Amino acid sequence: MIKNVLPAQPKNAAEKRKIIKMDIKSIEKIVSLSKRRGFIFQSSEIYGGLGSTWDYGPLGVEMKNNIKNLWWHDMVTSRQNIVGMDASILMHPEVWEASGHVKNFHDPMVDCKNCKARYRADHLSFKKTCNKCHKSISVSFPTEVVNDLIKIHGKVGSNELSKLSKGIKVEPCPFCKHILSTIELKCPSCGSYELTEPRQFNLMFKTSLGALADSGDVTYLRPETAQGIFVNFSNVVTTARQKLPFGIAQLGKAFRNEITTGNFLFRTREFEQMEMEFFIHPEEADKWLDYWSQERLDWFKSLGVREDKLRLRPHDSDELAHYSTACYDVEYEFPFGWSELEGIADRGTYDLDQHNEHAKKKQTYFDQPNNKHIVPAVIEASAGVDRAFLTCLVDAYREEKVNGEERIVLKLSPKVAPITVAVFPLVNKNGLPEISEKIFNELQSEFSAFFDQGGSIGRRYRRQDEAGTPFGITVDHQTLDDNTVTLRDRDSMEQIRIPTDQAVSKIKKKLSN
Ligand code: ATP
Repeated sequence: MIKNVLPAQPKNAAEKRKIIKMDIKSIEKIVSLSKRRGFIFQSSEIYGGLGSTWDYGPLGVEMKNNIKNLWWHDMVTSRQNIVGMDASILMHPEVWEASGHVKNFHDPMVDCKNCKARYRADHLSFKKTCNKCHKSISVSFPTEVVNDLIKIHGKVGSNELSKLSKGIKVEPCPFCKHILSTIELKCPSCGSYELTEPRQFNLMFKTSLGALADSGDVTYLRPETAQGIFVNFSNVVTTARQKLPFGIAQLGKAFRNEITTGNFLFRTREFEQMEMEFFIHPEEADKWLDYWSQERLDWFKSLGVREDKLRLRPHDSDELAHYSTACYDVEYEFPFGWSELEGIADRGTYDLDQHNEHAKKKQTYFDQPNNKHIVPAVIEASAGVDRAFLTCLVDAYREEKVNGEERIVLKLSPKVAPITVAVFPLVNKNGLPEISEKIFNELQSEFSAFFDQGGSIGRRYRRQDEAGTPFGITVDHQTLDDNTVTLRDRDSMEQIRIPTDQAVSKIKKKLSN
């Protein structure tokens, strides 16, 4: 039985966008803190930046590594029946023919001829105006309607989309109850009516191998890490001597030429995935889909993310990817609405079947009890590192007023925080920096530690609060007398006095709580 599961709900794109606009500010605050403290910088900033690409700074890379290490530990190191691997980003182009990505991995796209903005047709919403009270509401064209039209006509023009509005449930005006009748098909960005017909847009980045860029050398940057696992299935079975059910896990970069990017790290064209393919007897798919959905929801909780902001959402049949027969999303309630962090999908035998059809070498599994070769089915758990990172940042961000003073604090779980403990000499004289450095050296061999002697002590605390550092050790004049220091707790801001030689054990104890 899976906990925290919502029934499948129809997506209301118009409503989602309303939320996005409403809370754009909170994401801007996170972007600004990320830059100020060295979590994330805009890529190629000194050249004006490159849209939707981000660089992880000194604190960002530590936190990202913590998240990846926690995933690897949870999925690989702590389990007997999951092994890891690391495939190359460039793969044989036929892999993507076999996987269905060349044929199926695309979105319908609409361009504005006037301002060149580009939208996913199924994300666009249009204004309907009531011709009685003249108030407007937004309606959106659901994915399945746009896809159906593309299937029938090959392409859909603005006129067809207008006609399509007839296919949309026409509801009475929420203000005066009169039936809505007019539809405006405008570019949401510049207001122009000059929209192109929706065209199918493949999301894979093409590249060419070797010096001569002719078509024979074309391949793709991988749009998912999963295929690197599927094409190595036999290699792993033979070498790791695993028996069903067992998993293969992989962490690495993936690339998608997304039509619309945005919401900071949420949707970018280059991102990192943490994927695990769990190979099973096909008749056990339901059991393992439930198991992994719950496990993956629990993993996000274990990162310290607030439980009421996390949920599992089963996919509607029209949302399923081309390979999948059932899927749950782990979702987080971002300021821009509930959004996917990870997909847990029943991929059936699709991928191995496809490679068996296309590749020269067949991949099967010898089922000893039944004495026959079978193609195992797969449950996939596919998460984005950058989305997990953004979730931790957003979830931890607080603006507080304490004793009349305002502070921004990241209440990150100590497991995730880039720095575990900061050491501060109260003043830069009387031998305090030297004692502090000694304490810092001891702490550094156990934890990720930071030594900060610049500026007033209050300002140094604020800096570490913004960096999400859970503990602070302050060396003051009393340290000279009785060899004690203060241990400050980031969240309660309480300071207790402890003997210097107990600093390591006290922090370890707090970490294990
Ligand atoms: P979405 O519906 O948000 O586009 P998806 O269903 O296409 O996502 P999957 O193909 O299931 O995503 O990829 C697995 C995971 O990889 C996602 O849950 C997400 O965490 C991450 N991911 C996918 N696309 C992106 C992207 N463009 N930027 C950042 N992370 C991504």
